[in-house]
Amino acid sequence: MPLHNIIKGERFFKYAREGFLYKALHEITHQVKSRVYAFLSKYIRSLLYGEVLREDERFIVLIFDVEEDLDFYSELYYNSFKYIDSGAFNDLISLLDDLDICATFYITPQVAEHLNDMIKESLLNTHSLGVHLHPHNVVRVNYPFYSRSIIDHLSLYKYDEKLTMMQRAKSRIERVLDRKIFLFRSGRLCCDDEIEKIASILGYKAISNHRYTYYIKPLKIWNLDAGKHDLFVLLLKHGYKPLVKCITKSTEKIIALPGHPMRLYNYQRGKIISHLLSTFSSFIKTMIKEGNVHFIDQYRLLLLLERRLKMNTLGCEPGHNDFNDYGLLKYNSIK
Ligand SMILES: [Zn+2]
Repeated sequence: MPLHNIIKGERFFKYAREGFLYKALHEITHQVKSRVYAFLSKYIRSLLYGEVLREDERFIVLIFDVEEDLDFYSELYYNSFKYIDSGAFNDLISLLDDLDICATFYITPQVAEHLNDMIKESLLNTHSLGVHLHPHNVVRVNYPFYSRSIIDHLSLYKYDEKLTMMQRAKSRIERVLDRKIFLFRSGRLCCDDEIEKIASILGYKAISNHRYTYYIKPLKIWNLDAGKHDLFVLLLKHGYKPLVKCITKSTEKIIALPGHPMRLYNYQRGKIISHLLSTFSSFIKTMIKEGNVHFIDQYRLLLLLERRLKMNTLGCEPGHNDFNDYGLLKYNSIK
């Protein structure tokens, strides 16, 4: 075989190994694996151990991803902070404060460095904070930038690259806020075994990357429910009543509602979508009135779960019997 054909062939395999198709296939396989795992773990848990929390306890967990702004119509990142500078983000925080609701904010290093002292203080004193990491914020990219680009998938990087990115993001945010951060959530919820292991090594107590709440025993780290649909998209499309009905009917004890505050700003028109904020306010007020749910942030929920775990084991460290074969905490048995 002529030499140039061999080189061509080698190039092809190199491309196949490292190229888009391989990466996409890897990502799809991982997504399927993690969904099957989450489904099985929930199914086995509910089959064996019943319910996690007391009969009268139901929680709504608000999770906000606070990152560089994204034009949702064109799916492009612009690396600007219009939804923060316009006051939309501040309006959201003031509203939560007025309603006496604690939420969890996952912020990127750039956002942490951009926030004014007033917002920082409110986030630190009232709410809980986590590190949010999009690789495109760390790797140098040219803006505007396609949001679905493969470069933004943390799970496709090598172990050392993941470690460096996660380590830098954590230390940058901790330095700016002068506070230890214990929660981690990756952009696009990209997660794999290595990311979980690194999260544990870096001292996180919990990640929020998969559905459902469970303890990952070998890593001594929790997964707090990542949630599913964007809260603001649901409210914008359907109003708050269907969502209230859906939550009221649901049998889930922990209802995680993720949302992107950047959706409170219309980039085309250049103004705050104030009716979305008032729909959000009506949603919260109605849920409080319904009375069968409590709003809790992820860090307080984590403390509650850990306390229950200790109570269950009479003040001892979690023992072997507290976990099922999958290493998932039998928190359903905690009464
Ligand atoms: Zn994000």
